[in-house]
Amino acid sequence: MNDLLIANGNVLTVSPDGARADVLRRYDVLVRGQRIEAVQPAGRIDRSHFRTIIDATDKVVMPGFVNCHAHTPMVLFRGLAEDVSIDRWFNEFIWPLENNLTAEDVYWGMLLGAAEMIRAGITTVADHYFHMDRGGEAIDQIGMRGVLGWAMFSSLGKPALDQTDTFIREWHGAANGRITTIVAPHAPYTCDDDFLMAAGRIARRHGVPVHIHAAEVIAQTEASLAKRGITPIEILEQTGVLLPGTIIAHACGVTPDDVERMASAGVGVATAPKTYLKLGMDITPVRDLRAVGIPVGLATDGVVSNNTLDLWEAMRLTAMLQKDRALDPEVLTIPEALAIATHESAKVVGLGGKVGAVAAGYLADLIVVDTSGLHHQPLHSITASLVYSAMASDVVHTIIDGKVVMRDRRILTIDVDDVIANVSHQNRRLAQRVPGQRIQTYHP
Ligand SMILES: [Zn+2]
Repeated sequence: MNDLLIANGNVLTVSPDGARADVLRRYDVLVRGQRIEAVQPAGRIDRSHFRTIIDATDKVVMPGFVNCHAHTPMVLFRGLAEDVSIDRWFNEFIWPLENNLTAEDVYWGMLLGAAEMIRAGITTVADHYFHMDRGGEAIDQIGMRGVLGWAMFSSLGKPALDQTDTFIREWHGAANGRITTIVAPHAPYTCDDDFLMAAGRIARRHGVPVHIHAAEVIAQTEASLAKRGITPIEILEQTGVLLPGTIIAHACGVTPDDVERMASAGVGVATAPKTYLKLGMDITPVRDLRAVGIPVGLATDGVVSNNTLDLWEAMRLTAMLQKDRALDPEVLTIPEALAIATHESAKVVGLGGKVGAVAAGYLADLIVVDTSGLHHQPLHSITASLVYSAMASDVVHTIIDGKVVMRDRRILTIDVDDVIANVSHQNRRLAQRVPGQRIQTYHP
């Protein structure tokens, strides 16, 4: 008896180098346990051998998205910091608002954000936030895959480092392996060198990488050069956190030398284009990074700079921004955009070769996408439709680790209405900003 048959779908295949993206028409995907067992022409198998069957006729079966950098519980503050500069965004909004957060809030915020992601076809999140033990509980409960890091500033001192150490010991490999951990110092401008060195030691001791914001805008690199004569990426290199597999969020303000340093260190970069556009920032030099072999993955960042947890948007904005920056519509093609969304995003979060493809042996993190909407008609090119027309609401089924987590757009693992009710109840308390009370101050 097999576990799951996703029957008669149009299966997306993407070459890891982004040279080709094709669709296998009318194929079955056979799932046993956590993994894809076979991908084969439809009709060869007796359907009575399966416990669960999902009919994917005329729908697309593709890998779930991997969100390479998020602060998911920030959904709690959605819409509270609009039309402001980065300085004001941090100092007048985010850091005063985060002063209100309790561990309980993080749990409910993580559930709400994870539900939004699953409905948008995201199956893995690399999350960077506070009270991550409660965040982990939520990820476990809803059935998502997570690479989780407990956010730290050096102002929190040694207790924060000890907390991360404990968190990694307790949570790495949890939820049947769905949850892995990562060390998450916030940024070189909020963590001093000693703190970064200590974070790097924890990472090496546990054999996990680091997830950190760096060179978010060129102004940060210029400020670092003026103050210390080295770039933010050089700080990470000198303090020992530029480890193989380290996730650098944004890297919009990196120098050509930084790019070389990052390539030789073996790090990956998470790009969150909607945030850059909304906050009037520089953009990740995606093509320069990929040209030297640095994998680039898609990210939403937190909802207070992005408003949605939607990687369909991130995929198309990544492609369009590179075309616009190069003044050349022939760069960052549809197959490349799909390779970034699948193989490369998986690689950035340390899951390369494990998720990100509909192929035998891969973990069954899959989504089924409805292309019958008017915005897809007439459907001449499925791959063009996926990159430039698809909406989060086109995702009908989401499978994570071989389990159907959303069926016909209904999340099966938690009561979403209950989550919304719990979160709404806290709105007034969470939205208050007390003058002078904030968890950090931004001055790069
Ligand atoms: Zn971030």
